[in-house]
Amino acid sequence: MEINKLVQSQRDYFIAGRTRPLAFRKAALIKLRRAIKDNQERIVEAIKKDFGKPEFETLTSEILVSLQEINYAKKNLGKWARPDKAGGGLLNIPSSAHIQKEPYGVVLIMAPWNFPFFLVMAPLVGAIAAGNCAVVKPSEHSPHTTELIMEMLDEIFDQSHIKVVQGDHELGASLLKQRFDFIFFTGSTMVGKMVMKSAAESLTPLVLELGGKSPCIVHYDAELKAAARRIAWGKFLNGGQTCIAPDYLLVHEDIKEEFVSLLKANIRKFMHEGEATEYSKVIHASAFDRLESYLEDSKLLHGGKTNKETLFFEPTLIEVDGFEASSMQDEIFGPVLPILTYKNLEGAIDKVRKLPKPMVVYYFGRSKRLQKIALTNIPSGDFVINDTIMHFTSPRIPVGGVGFSGIGKYHGKESFRAFSHYKSVLKKPARFEIPIRYRPYSNYMALLKKLLRYLY
Ligand code: NAD
Repeated sequence: MEINKLVQSQRDYFIAGRTRPLAFRKAALIKLRRAIKDNQERIVEAIKKDFGKPEFETLTSEILVSLQEINYAKKNLGKWARPDKAGGGLLNIPSSAHIQKEPYGVVLIMAPWNFPFFLVMAPLVGAIAAGNCAVVKPSEHSPHTTELIMEMLDEIFDQSHIKVVQGDHELGASLLKQRFDFIFFTGSTMVGKMVMKSAAESLTPLVLELGGKSPCIVHYDAELKAAARRIAWGKFLNGGQTCIAPDYLLVHEDIKEEFVSLLKANIRKFMHEGEATEYSKVIHASAFDRLESYLEDSKLLHGGKTNKETLFFEPTLIEVDGFEASSMQDEIFGPVLPILTYKNLEGAIDKVRKLPKPMVVYYFGRSKRLQKIALTNIPSGDFVINDTIMHFTSPRIPVGGVGFSGIGKYHGKESFRAFSHYKSVLKKPARFEIPIRYRPYSNYMALLKKLLRYLY
């Protein structure tokens, strides 16, 4: 079906009120959960074909987290959708007021390839729970997963409710020419800007979940063994192709040697024997070339083995002199971890805060006072103390960037909120009122002045 006809059919479906009842939305979430469970093995296989993601990582970071989002939304939907009470305020006596949660209507969801299943499912759960119709565009770089998602959703949803469309950036561009009521975009900052420009034409509300360079600070009072384990895991999960991966390390110079050797030991352990084949590939040749170029102006500390034919890129640690290095110019988005050192924490914080605001800051250190200094002095989408990535796994923690790393939050209740318009409603009795607002003002001037003096 042509895109404009699809959007029109979804608009008709929405206007007919089909998606409004909570029972309909819950039933849709249950169908989605069933489809995921029935297709679990096919999802694992599809993502493996797309970029070799290990089964364990797909089961956890794609399937489990999607099911969690569905269950959490289904359980709490009644509470979220209920109108919130609001106060009409002194100037409106007598009155009542509330906030009504309205679905936007027909929404567009655009997703990247790197968590090709979860990053379609997580916003889709929000769209369904909030009562919208959705056109869903997964990425062309994960074709097997995209095909499977299309097949799964075609089977369980009327296309006037939810429809997957397949294509590359050209399809993306033509979708952006349509009139949607809301856009949820996950992807690069560069394309995010284009999406926002298009949305500006029609002032379409949107959420942008983007990327950037998320720093990871390791202070000398950190629990080094745990820090090395958690950073090595978080960095090289998904072959380093995670929007919230620690992009670069800032390590206190006194512990650098010890910390680097702990990191190496963990990488060796994680890549042990057969496990080495259970490791995601780089998505395509141009990403591979970009990652290899980072090795040119840096000192190799660990790894560096690559195979362009198979797109294998070993977990790699590099030492760089400063923020001018090539690896420090853009989001790395791959298994290369640049390491920089600092002498004092305030100096390191000062450097980071001058860069575009990141998706997340990871801080490792025991002192509560220093944790608080880092937390309050570095602007970022989110902040994690003594771990990496794990904040993304709870539907109770809203996630999202700020500025260059994104606009708006989602997961759990925030997904419902993102896909809803919160409409304020003020209700007054038809006749009775206190008439202190109508001309002639002179009738009430003395009273108004008294009120101002005594009330405020
Ligand atoms: P991308 O921006 O290239 O693509 C994202 C989507 O936009 C895809 O569906 C793609 O087809 C479409 N698209 C690409 N160019 C377009 C254009 N000119 N016009 C319209 N649509 C277009 O991103 P990607 O390479 O698939 O994913 C990697 C990026 O996504 C990284 O920057 C990463 O940090 C970011 N990301 C962010 C999050 C998050 O939650 N914040 C999660 C995952 C990935």
